[in-house]
Amino acid sequence: MKIVRSARSMQKLSRSAKLAGKTVGLVPTMGFLHEGHLSLIRKARKKCELLVVSLFVNPAQFGPDEDFSRYPRDPARDRRFCEKEKTDVLFCPKTRDVYCPDHSVFVNENDLSGGLCGASRPGHFRGVLTVVAKLFNIVQPDVAVFGRKDAQQLRIIERMVRDLNFPVRIVTAPIARESDGLAISSRNVYLSGRERARAVCLRESLCLCKRMYRRGTKDTRVIKSAMKKLIENGSPRVDIDYIEAVDYATLKPAKKIVAPTLVALAVYIGKTRLIDNTVVGE
Ligand code: AMP
Repeated sequence: MKIVRSARSMQKLSRSAKLAGKTVGLVPTMGFLHEGHLSLIRKARKKCELLVVSLFVNPAQFGPDEDFSRYPRDPARDRRFCEKEKTDVLFCPKTRDVYCPDHSVFVNENDLSGGLCGASRPGHFRGVLTVVAKLFNIVQPDVAVFGRKDAQQLRIIERMVRDLNFPVRIVTAPIARESDGLAISSRNVYLSGRERARAVCLRESLCLCKRMYRRGTKDTRVIKSAMKKLIENGSPRVDIDYIEAVDYATLKPAKKIVAPTLVALAVYIGKTRLIDNTVVGE
């Protein structure tokens, strides 16, 4: 496995792989890899000849009061994981190699980014899109794999690829979960024992949503209020950032589940903000 640190070397390497007729695959990550990331890497491995995994904690997608500086990092462990999954290139650029000190061009999406996480994390998706666009230009992948755990992010990236004509095929992977159903996240390490036990309420509320829908409830207000009750009933107390039901295509609020509907939530367990989602009505 090659470790590449500069954008220019990465670009050269990809270009020569493509000239040699190889398909290039990319899995963008912020590192501190876990089984969710590995599922993406395995999926990408099957779809390309040069597999690039990027590790970059992107400062542009963190708000001023968010956890950029304490975001968990373990590059040596990440390297071992990537090697085991037969990654060809680990691209781990330095921040200054990705963002010039006077960097002034950003990618904004103006339709799908307003609600859900976009409402609680202003500027987040601008940071995500900017770094993903940069990674696409640096790595020049034919295919890139993203997880459905970040459902809104995925929809916005698909929109960017469409609207800016990136020659990249976006492939998606399902949410990888712990045995009790908690969606795996690098941020789960922030949770204390009690908080970790409490965190299953996100998944439980989504299961309740699916059960209600299966039994005939289509009204999202009724479903959301049952989910809220389930979450608020446990202890220790948690803070709900949002519980939303939106049309999967437009990400606009859905009153009734009559088409594929993304039911997504963000909840603070102590100081840790966790997200999860499901799609119903498919
Ligand atoms: P991150 O390192 O959190 O920026 O995530 C990098 C990629 O891994 C994104 O495409 C995420 O959606 C995906 N990902 C993170 N956690 C999971 C998970 N539990 N299941 C599936 N994909 C995930």
